[in-house]
Amino acid sequence: MQPKEFLMIPGPTPVPDTVLETIARDPLGHRTKEFSKVLMEVTTSLKQLAECEGDLLTLTSSGTGAMEAAIANTVSPGDKVLSCVCGVFGERWVKIAQAFGASVDKLTAEPGEQISVDALRDRLQQDKDKSIKVVTMTHNETSTGVLNDLAQLALAVREHGALCVVDAVTSYGAVPIAFTNWGVDVMVAGSQKALMLPPGLAVVMMSDRAWDAQSRSKSPKFYFDLAKYRKSLSEETTPFTPNVSYVVGLKASLDMLKQEGYRAVYARHDRMKRALRAGVTGMGLKLFVKDEAAASPTITSILPPSSISVDNLRRSMKERFNIRIADGQDALKGKIFRIGHMGYVFERDILMTLAALEASLTELGYKCPAGIGVGSALAVLSLTAQPT
Ligand SMILES: *Cc1c(COP(=O)(O)O)cnc(C)c1O
Repeated sequence: MQPKEFLMIPGPTPVPDTVLETIARDPLGHRTKEFSKVLMEVTTSLKQLAECEGDLLTLTSSGTGAMEAAIANTVSPGDKVLSCVCGVFGERWVKIAQAFGASVDKLTAEPGEQISVDALRDRLQQDKDKSIKVVTMTHNETSTGVLNDLAQLALAVREHGALCVVDAVTSYGAVPIAFTNWGVDVMVAGSQKALMLPPGLAVVMMSDRAWDAQSRSKSPKFYFDLAKYRKSLSEETTPFTPNVSYVVGLKASLDMLKQEGYRAVYARHDRMKRALRAGVTGMGLKLFVKDEAAASPTITSILPPSSISVDNLRRSMKERFNIRIADGQDALKGKIFRIGHMGYVFERDILMTLAALEASLTELGYKCPAGIGVGSALAVLSLTAQPT
């Protein structure tokens, strides 16, 4: 017998029992008053969560589906798109925009670093004839563990006038976001990250400016034609059969977030980040994101000791403790390992993961003082005995 598998990966994330019980029930009919009520409540809560005064639509797809919807509805073939890339998910915008026939330029940051606000502003100021129509970016780059300064990046885009299209998949629900105040035009999120659901639902937010572009966009679209979703939502329904069970589950998870309080949720994520960073550096490991201010509150990337492979470390964590941690992606595969801490994850889980990590490293021949990882984390959480 083994303990329940624990997902310390950047999605899917652990799902609360209340949510699991909710989604296990028979589905509601999607054209019923009962479902309409849940859909409208969920929409209102999701908007609150991102301080969104525009439209918010839920889609039955993974997060990438919402990214595709964002591009298909704002970009026309031949349009110039500037993509801010600081990892795999920033690159995904490039691929989608190219698939829709856009001409894509990139503004790239070194892996582990933020997109530079100054570099973005410079690049946009060079675009004198305003040929750039859309700027894409990733709020929280899951592949490296970097949180970008979205408020400032969005401001630079606003000064230029292009649409600001943002992937907030691993920040939404874990980090404060002010969609409307920051002047973001399109923002996407997915259910399997901080929203505490399994994968399968996505969210897309649209500003008035984004709808303006939507009405002019010439990209082919049918399932992801957002005008259909907006029209249906005005009638308290959806254009197609949505994942009704997950919409009901989302109501349950959003209620939990509301009950804890959004600010408390954000503070919890920030504490987990600080405790985990202190724990791994306490063990003598190196963090991939050096700058504390740039480090993500939802995902931490760590360099393995030179003598230990990421594969072996992940295997030991899984076999011995049934804790799953993530490898690096693409070019960073085998170079870093990543620990996710978003959604239904608590300080307890960070302490448990640090203890297991220390044990696994020790088993693989690494040397550090016993208990130093957990001890360093406890100190950051102010949970150690105070000197009297
Ligand atoms: C998980 C994730 C996505 C969405 O991926 P899907 O597998 O399509 O749900 C997009 N962007 C970021 C930053 C992510 O972490």
